Amino acid sequence: MTISKSELLHAVAIASAGYFAGNSVAEDRIEAITKTFFRVLSEGSGSSLLAVDHPPFVPIAESLKDDEITCLDCGQSFRSLKRHLVIQHGLTPESYRAKWGLSDTYPMVPRRTSEIRSNISRTTIQNLRETGRRVGRAPQGGEG
Ligand SMILES: [Zn+2]
Repeated sequence: MTISKSELLHAVAIASAGYFAGNSVAEDRIEAITKTFFRVLSEGSGSSLLAVDHPPFVPIAESLKDDEITCLDCGQSFRSLKRHLVIQHGLTPESYRAKWGLSDTYPMVPRRTSEIRSNISRTTIQNLRETGRRVGRAPQGGEG
């Protein structure tokens, strides 16, 4: 797999940003770390970042709970994994799934959160429909 220079720089930027967000780094180390990412990414086309260097923190089946998802990389639990993956690990949901051999349908939010979200959107749509119906009706006459 070969990637263009701009794709490589983009990958370096994402990986470094993720690393710096998750680790306190002395200012004089920033350049060296960024160069390391550049070297690693240009040599391995990024595949070494996806290499599994430790077993998952929790068994994959146990990573999905009703109201939280546990990150297989670091063992922290979240209501939404996507943001954490990008910031802490420099991974997209796709690369995270690839890294741990997860199916394409492995969710990024826990079941309850996705249920709540779909309930909210269902309720919102219902409310909008009912409001829309009321708008067409003539207002009922005064009090008393
Ligand atoms: Zn993590």
